[in-house]
Amino acid sequence: MGSPSTALPERPDRYVFQADPGADPRADPDRFRAAVRDWLADALAGEFSGLRGAGGPGREHEAFDERLAWDRHLAEAGWTCLGWPVEHGGAGAPLAHQVIFHEEYARADAPARVNHFGEELLGPTLIAFGTPAQQQRFLPGIVAVRELWCQGYSEPGAGSDLAAVRTRATLDGEAWVIDGQKVWTSLAHVAHWCFLLARTDPDQQRHRGLSYLLVPMHQPGVEVRPIRQLTGTAEFNEVFFTGARTDADLVVGAVGDGWRVALGTLAMERGVATLGQQVGFRRELDALVGLARRTGALADPVLRDKLVRARIGLEVMQAHARRTLGSDAPGVASVSKLVWAAWHRGLGELAMEVLGAGSLVAQGEPYDLDRWQRLFLFSRADTIYGGSDEVQRTILAERVLGLPRPVRP
Ligand SMILES: Cc1cc2nc3c(=O)[nH]c(=O)nc-3n(C[C@H](O)[C@H](O)[C@H](O)COP(=O)(O)OP(=O)(O)OC[C@H]3O[C@@H](n4cnc5c(N)ncnc54)[C@H](O)[C@@H]3O)c2cc1C
Repeated sequence: MGSPSTALPERPDRYVFQADPGADPRADPDRFRAAVRDWLADALAGEFSGLRGAGGPGREHEAFDERLAWDRHLAEAGWTCLGWPVEHGGAGAPLAHQVIFHEEYARADAPARVNHFGEELLGPTLIAFGTPAQQQRFLPGIVAVRELWCQGYSEPGAGSDLAAVRTRATLDGEAWVIDGQKVWTSLAHVAHWCFLLARTDPDQQRHRGLSYLLVPMHQPGVEVRPIRQLTGTAEFNEVFFTGARTDADLVVGAVGDGWRVALGTLAMERGVATLGQQVGFRRELDALVGLARRTGALADPVLRDKLVRARIGLEVMQAHARRTLGSDAPGVASVSKLVWAAWHRGLGELAMEVLGAGSLVAQGEPYDLDRWQRLFLFSRADTIYGGSDEVQRTILAERVLGLPRPVRP
């Protein structure tokens, strides 16, 4: 794969949504879809053509620098932060247009984006909770993909039980001084900044006394240690903060009110990208059917049945996602997470069945896995990150069914 230039081409036609089709015909959803499709086809035909299908969960190491250049190319044309308000550098696109963009993006097999944490989590959080100064300082860097972010929530003793966070931040004149350890911090090794949850009032317990801080990663007090996964790759990390510093005004929301802001960020995890994700799932299933056809596995009636069931599951999941998009009704997010995570993990298992005994053998040295083996191994994580299955079921039990909280010893 070549190395595309990171120079940004001139794009006088930077996309900003206009409600009036007279001002821009792309206001019409069909015209918009055609415009996105044409743009992607054109952009992926040239210097970026080698990036089709690159990256994504379990494969974040693939062509990272080239994908960064691709993201900046998208930014220049106005295809990043589509749903953000125009005054914050977004395109102000309505939900329907955002969905179309994600569907076409997945359909084109365009490479996985590198700044999910900035565009989908921190940016919307700053728009909702940040000060004007914080918005002006950070949002343009996210829109242009100049600054990459990571999420510092989980700690060795605080995953599902996030309120148990022990990382401390103490005010020292004009700066917060941060000490503690985060874990499972995806993409921390390439991030410029981290949004993290720290305890700023040691006298308070649990979710009280926490603050949401923005911390620069490139400083002596921050050490990033990669964690090698079952897939053989290392896309998440342990992050150690030892006297790390950040400016006193880089607290999002009030000091001590970090829990509310952190939950606000979590609520944004399930954005419109979900529909694009499902187009990606469909591509994976189609590819698996193609593999089964080539290997002769389709002759097995049990495997044929499982492939058909996978397709039915996908249709149901997609219908549910479309119907509930943008809904914040209790339990909707939990049902979606449970359904897609189980489906995707099941697809990984099915892929191993299609491959048969050969799936047990690496393709080469050292530990060279193919896409199906990686899918099988990495999709085990789907039922953990973003809230584990058990946590989602507890939410449904307590908030939807109104079941009593279990008595904990
Ligand atoms: C691929 C991947 C990427 C991630 N990226 C990030 C990231 O970028 N930033 C970040 O901050 N974190 C990240 N995480 C961490 C993720 O949020 C945590 O793994 C998750 O919150 C679970 O926490 P834990 O791993 O500490 O497990 P634990 O909370 O220790 O849970 C262990 C098991 O116990 C179960 N369990 C826990 N509590 C209960 C309960 N009350 N009732 C019933 N069962 C329970 C859980 O369901 C799980 O099966 C990532 C994780 C993965 C797998």
